[in-house]
Amino acid sequence: VRAAGEGLAVGLDVGGTKIAAGLVGADGSVLLRERLSTPDDTEALFELLVDAALRLSQGQVDIPVGVGAAGLVSHDGVIRYAPNISWVDEPLQQRLAERLGVAVTIDNDASAAAWGEFRVGAGSAVRSMAMLTLGTGVGGGLVIDERLVRGASGFGSEFGHIIVDEGGPACPCGNHGCLEPLASGTAIGRIARERLAGGQVPAGSALHRLDAVTGKAVTVAAHAGDAAAREVLATAGFWLGVGIASLCNAVDPELVVIGGGAIQAGELVLEPARRAFVERLIGAAQRRPTKIVRASLSDDAGLVGAALLSLDGPAPAGAA
Ligand SMILES: [Zn+2]
Repeated sequence: VRAAGEGLAVGLDVGGTKIAAGLVGADGSVLLRERLSTPDDTEALFELLVDAALRLSQGQVDIPVGVGAAGLVSHDGVIRYAPNISWVDEPLQQRLAERLGVAVTIDNDASAAAWGEFRVGAGSAVRSMAMLTLGTGVGGGLVIDERLVRGASGFGSEFGHIIVDEGGPACPCGNHGCLEPLASGTAIGRIARERLAGGQVPAGSALHRLDAVTGKAVTVAAHAGDAAAREVLATAGFWLGVGIASLCNAVDPELVVIGGGAIQAGELVLEPARRAFVERLIGAAQRRPTKIVRASLSDDAGLVGAALLSLDGPAPAGAA
């Protein structure tokens, strides 16, 4: 007999500005979906997450909750630090579990997105894959031999902080030349603004007529055929490929999945990324070709992955 709510979970993908929430089936289908704004106050955020989980559970008992949070999440379900939310040592797993009376799992948001793509998205046919999410920053997630890799502290797979250009631009993490300030959506805007300020953009380019030179606006101009905007995306794509080469030389996944808002650039970033990647991959002629593809779950990857992680069961404490 199938119990009420069996095979269903609530997924909460908590970012610095918005929250994607949903009721998800065991097959990864999203049965209900909500988009919410992230409040500045962390207690207001906690109450908002509680309310969303209760609404989405629709009064059914024992619906587990999976959370993907934009921050460093340790194995004990504590968010140690979040770059865009003022959480410090926030025991969110314990607090939500006590308040809701259900099982709660918490992972980093990009790790949750990687699990979503691995289970029911672009990576569903492979055993090992890496994911990078290109947005305000660059997130990472890694699945090796069908297991999500969290590392010793739970802080693993932060591929946005692979250093690809030691003399490069400052990263919010304090280092210089990380992938994040070179290949994120934010980076696309910055590269374009620097080229405009440096007189490197031809007078006829649409970049001169943008109200705000953001990654999104540059991408729209590139899709409309603007050559200077396409060069900006190719530059970000080049650095992405350099970073992916280091990642693949280190861990050798079968597939690299690229998601996040900035992947709206599509092939305009992926094609130069593949070129830079293959030139730097060791043993490229000897190994099976590692594919670099676009994510398939779009904005749902994080909430679907978080929900499925709560159904698939948490990893044993301290396990990879
Ligand atoms: Zn960094």
